[in-house]
Amino acid sequence: MGKKRRTKKVGPTGGLGVRYGVSVRKRYRSTISEMKKPQTCPQCGLRSVKRESVGIWACRKCGFKFAGGAYVPSTNLGVTAKRSAARST
Ligand SMILES: [Zn+2]
Repeated sequence: MGKKRRTKKVGPTGGLGVRYGVSVRKRYRSTISEMKKPQTCPQCGLRSVKRESVGIWACRKCGFKFAGGAYVPSTNLGVTAKRSAARST
C-alpha cells in the first residue's frame, strides 16, 4: 500500500482567511516554508535549528536557544517586507 500524495486545497495558507490579499498570502506561504526548513545554528553552525515557539529558536544539536524573528531566526525577511511595503506606499 503506497502513500498517495493527495492534492490538498488546504496548504500552508489554510489557516488564513480571505481577508488577506494574494500577495500577503504568497509571502506568508514562502515564510512558512522557510520556517519549516531547519535553520543554521549561530553557535555550532549546523542546520539543526527548529522553531520552538513564536520568536524562540532552538538547536537540536547543541541545545542553543535564542530569540529571533517570529518565522525565521533572522529578521531579514521582515526588513524586506517592510521595504517593499514602504515602496508601495
Ligand atoms: Zn547548535
